Amino acid sequence: MDMKSVLSLIESENIEYVDFRVVDLSGRQHHVTIPAYAVDEGTFLNGVAFDGSSLVGYKGIEDSDMVAMPDPASAFIDPFVEAKTLNIVCDIYNPDGTPYERDPRGIALKAERYLKQTGLATDAYFGPESEFFLFDNVRYASGPSGSFFHIDSEEAFWNTGKEGQNLGYKVRNKGGYFPVQPTDTQVDIRNEMCTLMTQAGLKVERHHHEVATAGQAEINFRFDTLTRTADNLLLFKYIVRNVAAKHGKTATFMPKPIVGDNGSGMHVHQSLFDGERPLFYEKGGYANLSQMALYYIGGILYHAPALIALTNPSTNSFKRLVPGYEAPVNLVFSKGNRSAAIRIPVAAMTPKAARIEFRTPDSTANPYLAFAAMLMAGLDGIKRGLDPRELGFGPVDRNIYDLTDAEKHEIKSAPGSLEEALNALERDHAFLLEGGVFTHDVIETWIALKRDEIQQVERTVNPKEYELYYDL
Ligand code: GLN
Ligand code: MG
Ligand code: MG
Ligand code: MG
Repeated sequence: MDMKSVLSLIESENIEYVDFRVVDLSGRQHHVTIPAYAVDEGTFLNGVAFDGSSLVGYKGIEDSDMVAMPDPASAFIDPFVEAKTLNIVCDIYNPDGTPYERDPRGIALKAERYLKQTGLATDAYFGPESEFFLFDNVRYASGPSGSFFHIDSEEAFWNTGKEGQNLGYKVRNKGGYFPVQPTDTQVDIRNEMCTLMTQAGLKVERHHHEVATAGQAEINFRFDTLTRTADNLLLFKYIVRNVAAKHGKTATFMPKPIVGDNGSGMHVHQSLFDGERPLFYEKGGYANLSQMALYYIGGILYHAPALIALTNPSTNSFKRLVPGYEAPVNLVFSKGNRSAAIRIPVAAMTPKAARIEFRTPDSTANPYLAFAAMLMAGLDGIKRGLDPRELGFGPVDRNIYDLTDAEKHEIKSAPGSLEEALNALERDHAFLLEGGVFTHDVIETWIALKRDEIQQVERTVNPKEYELYYDL
């Protein structure tokens, strides 16, 4: 859709409000709403002014004027607002009409332009599998009145059900993937999410209960180009959270909400195309991958310690990246192997479907920054001919959790904490600066923002400390 068709849609659909959305540096969306009668060509050409000082990672209050420039191609009707409302995703500009250099969406768009400039490919496709939990009751606090944390889920083994009932069909430990109803209690709510996603323009591919005992779900929508997929992911999360809220539940994409149960990942499938021509397939190569695909893998694994500061950017991310929960710990690639950081899906592989699956990321990533950074790492691998087989990144086609200590010693590990990942990003970010895609400013701001989060977490008294120390 272009500006003209959005304006005529506002007329023909009797739209009452238009909602303009921007994303902050950490990946949260914010919005400002304008009555449809006040929206005209000028809104699209001049943008919508907002105060950037309230958004995480942006300008200070002394210089806070910013402009949201609507991207008409992103328009969709909001299924949750009573008055008929059209939502439009915006790019962030400075008042002087130049793009704001910390705008994550602007960085994603630059990464796509850079890809074309390299001449290596015309399009990069991304397909995220963003897992989440649905809970019934979450209470947490840390402050002067105390520090506590409590979660209830209809499906959790400690649940006693509504009005104290317990009907016996419990999800077995790590057995959520994928018994039928009545064990799976979330079919209707997932269907409802998918229906609204389809209406909003996502192509839903499948949904299922996930492995965790306590109400974990996964819904997949079809891959698309980089910026479009990041837009789609925010739309997806918006729908998941709001359908959950309508049912008196709460959705979380936090990577490890429950100790001892599977966490939520965001595996990201990736491939490069030259127009219609897939570039990652070559019959007879390892897992039928082309040399270009292998170099792309080499780039991701080589830069992984730094990359993870953008793909797994929360202190909680590293509580998921531990052995035994289908989350990768080691930096290797493999076909089929779900304990490797990069898996090559081999089932139903065709030239067009040939892709790599980076399994490390989680949904606390800002998708614009994470997808752009993964593309930059992969492209660096191609340009420098980083063959993962020569760099000690596998392939490892056995379950890595079962390797002996000596065998494991050969394999490089993902960073064990957000701090380690940020230190790696501080050392290794030249690949992100190529073509001006990321800037020093945005990387420094990111590192400072995330180090501040680490400090907040470290200064907070946490429940485990009571268990370990209360009676000492
Ligand atoms: N939940 C797992 C993770 O943390 C993945 C499970 C799966 O999709 N097989 O990555
Ligand atoms: Mg999946
Ligand atoms: Mg999954
Ligand atoms: Mg997967």
